[in-house]
Amino acid sequence: MGGRAVARCWLLVASGRGAKDYARAQLLLSLLSGTVELGALAWFFFSGASYWLGLRLPHVWTYFLVFGAGFEAVSLVFAWLGRAIEIRFEMNRQSLASWAVDQLKGLALTAGLGLGAVELIYWLMRTSPNHWWLWSWGGFAVFFVLMAQIGPVLLLPLFFKMRRMGDDEPMCQRLFATYAKLRATNPRLPRLHGIFEWKLGEKSAKANAALTGLGGTRRVIISDTLLESSPVEEIEAVFIHELGHHVHHDIWRGLGFQTAVSFVEFWVAAWVLGAVCPRTGMPVSGVASLPLLILVFSLLYLGLLPANNGFVRAMERRADDYSFQTLGTAEPLLAGLQRLAEKNLAEVAPPRWKEFLLYSHPSIATRIRRGRAWEEANART
Ligand SMILES: [Zn+2]
Repeated sequence: MGGRAVARCWLLVASGRGAKDYARAQLLLSLLSGTVELGALAWFFFSGASYWLGLRLPHVWTYFLVFGAGFEAVSLVFAWLGRAIEIRFEMNRQSLASWAVDQLKGLALTAGLGLGAVELIYWLMRTSPNHWWLWSWGGFAVFFVLMAQIGPVLLLPLFFKMRRMGDDEPMCQRLFATYAKLRATNPRLPRLHGIFEWKLGEKSAKANAALTGLGGTRRVIISDTLLESSPVEEIEAVFIHELGHHVHHDIWRGLGFQTAVSFVEFWVAAWVLGAVCPRTGMPVSGVASLPLLILVFSLLYLGLLPANNGFVRAMERRADDYSFQTLGTAEPLLAGLQRLAEKNLAEVAPPRWKEFLLYSHPSIATRIRRGRAWEEANART
């Protein structure tokens, strides 16, 4: 990566048109930002710069703020480039001022949550040098559950307006009637606490829907861009796909997977820090080891990404099947997915390696192929 990659990225952004160019520009930007950010972390730690800073700022919070500010400055450049790509491909509808406010909110959130996490981890390192990673992992497992619970009521509304759809709206009536019918045949179907319109359209041209929350905050959110652009049959099929995640307890499954992965991450991080820090003269529990800790977590995250994506794709396939079976036809979901792909400028048939490594959802081509196969199998019986 380097000057040539930047030039290629720029060329794509300047001359690109369709979904393929959009996907390529995004991939190149991810590769570029990943290389620069990981490279910067490695340089900062292994050059001794982190040790130097740690000696001058021995408190965890002072080090974190200075180090974090530098890291965020680098990230901001890539966020800016990401916005330029969105504008070029006509996906962006957000003013510069609104984008800047979102960046500031994200920064405040990262600073607050990040500082809390880092203070906790380094306190555990000092008080329990052998088992800090196990305690930290336990803390993160609780944190994941908490975030999944408060996400739709506290975090999402920070960035998007959300509106509970009323019983007097025909669309909501239809979706709740579908849900009630399914609940009548399956009393074990967990409760759903509302359907929300997600005001995505003032910021993006994209459309989406999702199942979010845990327990009392469990809800389906559907973007206004999807509601405006799709016929009711397709919205219903997408809604049933989300109910498929609800029936299969996919949010809990995801949390379980994430918790298992983070156990491995903390364990490996403790081992790497224990092996590397003494050689560089830094104590593991000194905050100067933070760049190495983030580096290890980032590399493990990247290494485990294909496994994580494979796990999520399996859940997506099951949710698609649930929609096919519930409606007795695959057509409305396939039509809805095709419409979503067009709106989101999604790469319909990416190379297989790309889908395997990078896609959290099966590609549209794969989903359509599966739907057609389902139609054929069920037409014969
Ligand atoms: Zn899904």
